[in-house]
Amino acid sequence: MTKCYMCEQGMLKKEKVPYTLLGELIGHFEAEVCTQCKEVFFSEEISKKITEVTKAKGLWGISARTKIGEAGNTLDVRLPKRIIELMDLEKGTEVLVYPVSKKKLIVEI
Ligand SMILES: [Zn+2]
Repeated sequence: MTKCYMCEQGMLKKEKVPYTLLGELIGHFEAEVCTQCKEVFFSEEISKKITEVTKAKGLWGISARTKIGEAGNTLDVRLPKRIIELMDLEKGTEVLVYPVSKKKLIVEI
């Protein structure tokens, strides 16, 4: 067995692990899991496969560039249609907005 690349303590065991993205199960994929730190490693081949499935499910590259608009004396951010549909958003939905840094803003539904 191979030693873990992360902690260099545990051994890597072949296992099928679930892979989730944006709360949706993409599938179970073969990976090497560390017996010590539980870090999961996917081979390049499996990573490609995960990307393919993610694309097929329409969940690839869901982030999008948008511009800040103006509404009265406040500013608003327009959300792209794909995100609105994926998250079931509608006008009037209450959200929590908070900055985590000067460059990052979190919107929690
Ligand atoms: Zn490890």
